[in-house]
Amino acid sequence: METPAGVQNRIRSIALKFGIAALSVAVALLITQALQPTVFPTPLFFAAIVISTWFGGTGPGVFAVLFATVLLDYYFVSPTRGFSMHPAGLLYLAQFSLPALLSSWFVKKRREAEAALKEARDQLDVKVQQRTAELRRTNEQLQLEISERKRAEEAFHKTQAELAHLTRVMTMSELATSIAHEVNQPLAAIVTNGDACVRWLGLEPPNLDRARDSVARMINEGKRASEVIKRIRALSKKTTPHKSALQINELIHEMIALLGTELLKNKIRLTTQLGPDVPLVFGDRVQLQQVILNLVVNGIEAMSEVQGRSRELLIRTEKASSDRVQVSVQDCGCGLDAEQSEHLFEAFFTTKPGGIGMGLSISRTIIEAHGGRLWASPNSDYGAKFQFALPMAEGSES
Ligand code: ADP
Repeated sequence: METPAGVQNRIRSIALKFGIAALSVAVALLITQALQPTVFPTPLFFAAIVISTWFGGTGPGVFAVLFATVLLDYYFVSPTRGFSMHPAGLLYLAQFSLPALLSSWFVKKRREAEAALKEARDQLDVKVQQRTAELRRTNEQLQLEISERKRAEEAFHKTQAELAHLTRVMTMSELATSIAHEVNQPLAAIVTNGDACVRWLGLEPPNLDRARDSVARMINEGKRASEVIKRIRALSKKTTPHKSALQINELIHEMIALLGTELLKNKIRLTTQLGPDVPLVFGDRVQLQQVILNLVVNGIEAMSEVQGRSRELLIRTEKASSDRVQVSVQDCGCGLDAEQSEHLFEAFFTTKPGGIGMGLSISRTIIEAHGGRLWASPNSDYGAKFQFALPMAEGSES
């Protein structure tokens, strides 16, 4: 229901529109009269009708046509200052009023089209604003999700690195006795050479050449012990991954130097076939050594029950394709059965009484993070072969 104030406003607006129509027709009359006889009587009335329809709509437009027709009849159709009823006068008036009505109708239609266009444009504007706001909200949400995912990914990588470190330290602690022996050996050699040196110096005359040889051996053994300790520290330290161009053969040599006693203890004959032309790989030294360590230790453990044939471990490196370096660790141990092969790389899969089953899963994660691949296959006779391929470092062609 419209309020009284609303009704009042509407009446005022209608009165104003009719007022404009009456005024514009009256102004047209005054100007036309003033300019007589130099102008035609009708054009300014047409203009007044257009103005009335444009601002007032149909009602004021029709009113302006009628008002203008009456004024034209009264002032310009003879007899002037009176209403003519003869056919020629009526024809003249009809020639004016019919086109005037038609113009009024056109103006009204045009006005309506413009109003509809404006409304459509306004609606579109509102819609665009709504969609923009929605898009902005979606975008903000997306940004939030992206940063959330980034945080989750960072946390995941951190946990993975910590897990890798933990399993590395656990593997090292399993090898503690052998590793301790690896350090003890050069220390014992230093003592032996020290004793010998003292003896050579105690001779009369002292044998300086022999004494010098003993000291040189002591220095070498000291360096060996220090190298071993350096490697143990590097493997035990918790460091953030750092990638550089690495010679994979060198990493294997370093690992073998740590595992010499373990191999000896388990009566394992190690053979290496390290390709002389193996290109550099781009990776984290400690992580890649962890993979090699895991594979070699697994090979040693797989052969622990082997009786009646020699325990052979083969480490091989080669340039596998135009851009890949391949490493394989092959044993002649218990081998892999079909069911086991499916689960080898799953976390916590183990067949060993004291195993935790993280070594292979972590190794695969490390190799894949380096853009490579790690896989296993049974040998045709005994044992298994674990292989990984890594992309070679950019610009490396050694
Ligand atoms: P863990 O050594 O603690 O068991 P890994 O992830 O290193 O954990 O190994 C998972 C399992 O894969 C081992 O328990 C073993 O059954 C199998 N496996 C690994 N290496 C070999 C191998 N060289 N020969 C046979 N089986 C192996």
